Amino acid sequence: MAKITLSNLKHSYMPNPKGAEDYALKEIDLDWEDGGAYALLGPSGCGKSTLLNIISGLLTPSEGKILFDDRDVTDLPPDQRNIAQVFQFPVIYDTMTVRENLAFPLRNRKVPEARIAERVADIAAMLEVQEMLDVRASHLSPDNKQKISMGRGLVRDDVNVVMFDEPLTVIDPHLKWKLRSKLKELHQRVRATMIYVTHDQTEALTFADQVVVMQDGEVVQIGTPVELFERPQHTFVGHFIGSPGMNVLPVSENGGRVTFEGHSVALEGAVSGQGGSTELGIRPEFVSIADAGLEARVRKVSDVGRHSVVEAMVGDTAVKAIIEGAAPEQGAAVHLNFAQAQTRLYRDGWIATEVSP
Ligand code: ADP
Ligand code: MG
Repeated sequence: MAKITLSNLKHSYMPNPKGAEDYALKEIDLDWEDGGAYALLGPSGCGKSTLLNIISGLLTPSEGKILFDDRDVTDLPPDQRNIAQVFQFPVIYDTMTVRENLAFPLRNRKVPEARIAERVADIAAMLEVQEMLDVRASHLSPDNKQKISMGRGLVRDDVNVVMFDEPLTVIDPHLKWKLRSKLKELHQRVRATMIYVTHDQTEALTFADQVVVMQDGEVVQIGTPVELFERPQHTFVGHFIGSPGMNVLPVSENGGRVTFEGHSVALEGAVSGQGGSTELGIRPEFVSIADAGLEARVRKVSDVGRHSVVEAMVGDTAVKAIIEGAAPEQGAAVHLNFAQAQTRLYRDGWIATEVSP
């Protein structure tokens, strides 16, 4: 296992990149602690696979360095980095049995046969594929092929890091949650550094202790699931994480006073910076319906099980609120209240309110 450091990483797929828009990765600086469970979360095309492939050595970055335990590995080929990588689609040998597939990464490294049998049995039990061990891989369903592919990534116990690139894409939805919790359990057992790439917030938040949120070739925030939920550093994080995401409302700001649809709004703390385009961020969980507050009209009510999502118009702007218990009717006139401690200003996307520690 190893600590991983990415320093000043940039990558462009173009031979002569010019502006920032020519870079798939713009500037990445990260420290991944030994033994951590990390998720790399962001929408399709934001650079997640590019970053993983740079860590594994399949790609050489245009600029910057990769260090494992302070050793520079930037120019080492993949097979000298001691990494296991599980891809989005199964990578297995169709002509081999499941057992042979699982054993392959170990045989390749001349691990003694007795130890191989032990590891294969362990991994097969974990993935619940014991009864398939002697089946030829070509006969497996796509689900099971991917399970075996994951097993191949997990079978070695001497790797620096295990990386998963959207490994559950081809897995049946009802199997997904099961494999997800298995991976979490496995991480707790082996304490290998694991990096899990996904565009699915639920997968990221259930697997990882630390989530790295990426947008457009950049890291926008690194934090625990709770930190990302409670204090998004960027409107993108607020909107991308949560269901529904944070309300991002256009406001005007003047000398620290913030006005939303003609009403003055109290914020969590003092405003920092000036100019730029300003928005107010508040999660639907912290918007309530009260006797007094912003006048609004209910446009839509969705019952989502334990609570309702109420969408109400304040002037021309829609605001979502999560309401426990009885929800108002569509068309009703209501008053909305924003919990002050959860109401923040964003300037050009970045958080612009300060709270004293
Ligand atoms: P993600 O894994 O987050 O979906 P990728 O790392 O695959 O994102 O892609 C990041 C950006 O780089 C995208 O704009 C994508 O089109 C581009 N890209 C990815 N692979 C290549 C490649 N081999 N050649 C050129 N452009 C690529
Ligand atoms: Mg990808």
